[in-house]
Amino acid sequence: MVTASAAANRRAIAKAQVRGGLKIVRELGGGVYAVSGSMGTEYRVQDGAELVCTCPAGQAAMPCYHSAAVWLRRVAQRANATPHTPTRETAAQVRERLREESRVNVARWNDADLDDAPSLYAAAV
Ligand SMILES: [Zn+2]
Repeated sequence: MVTASAAANRRAIAKAQVRGGLKIVRELGGGVYAVSGSMGTEYRVQDGAELVCTCPAGQAAMPCYHSAAVWLRRVAQRANATPHTPTRETAAQVRERLREESRVNVARWNDADLDDAPSLYAAAV
């Protein structure tokens, strides 16, 4: 990953996902991972301040999907470790949610009216 362009990193991440994402990563311990390469080769990725891969691209400080797969694993672990915090809704999301909820309530009222039709008249008698 090192100091590549954002586009190159995105390509590496996309390729890692196509190749199986977290499934191609095997933890060896000590921040070292074995990642399956496309030709059956297994590369080692060291997860430290930056991700360093033993593949030719990695050795040339270019983003590779092996490092990207380990990065995906790191992101997934962080997501699992982070306690759930409610996300802030935008004004548009609040409007849409309220619209949905009011539709549900309208349906509920209609159902109740149909089920309980005699009692609607009972009060008027
Ligand atoms: Zn690599």
